[in-house]
Amino acid sequence: MKKRLLTLLLVATATTLAAQNFKGLVDIRKIDSTITVELMYAKADNFVGEKMYNFSKAYLHPKAAAAVKRANSLLREINPNLHLHIYDAARPMSVQQKMWNKVKGTAQQNYVSNPANGGGLHNYGLAVDVSIANSKGDTLPMGTLVDALTHKSHIDREQELVRTGKISAEAAKNRQLLRRVMQQAGFRPLRSEWWHFNFTTRADARKNYRVIP
Ligand SMILES: [Zn+2]
Repeated sequence: MKKRLLTLLLVATATTLAAQNFKGLVDIRKIDSTITVELMYAKADNFVGEKMYNFSKAYLHPKAAAAVKRANSLLREINPNLHLHIYDAARPMSVQQKMWNKVKGTAQQNYVSNPANGGGLHNYGLAVDVSIANSKGDTLPMGTLVDALTHKSHIDREQELVRTGKISAEAAKNRQLLRRVMQQAGFRPLRSEWWHFNFTTRADARKNYRVIP
């Protein structure tokens, strides 16, 4: 009985924390229910190898959320059978610290922003990890899985990756479609991760936006 009460209390605390942390941010599915969400750090099957948080919604700063909605509309104008599929959005700094502690001193540390240096744009709700899915809910081939820490995830030499058979021509085309709609909506791509898009620069975020605690 006592244990059950404690569990209930812990669950309640975790829920409240998440709600407080995401105050002022937008749940993307509330403004566009055609977008699907499958947060990769809400389960253990990610590059850290551990579940990083308990929430399942993709929260973003209102400006970034509006831009994602716009990107999804652009995509659906091109092909109504497609929609954006989100893998990560706002990430509280406490989660960033947890991730950093896991990868610090390993080969993966270059892929995680150090909280001591102010973190990254996910920590402001100004970055999104995203792919494209079809009406069956299947994600389109992109050459690698999301969060694959390999040069095959890089976007600067895609033609070479196609030519050398590392990714398919279809995957390259799908990545280009994703970049086209995201960039048209105001996002910037990242050279080393086809799935990651920033809404602004780190300098601008630090000056004008609030870190999610
Ligand atoms: Zn990202």
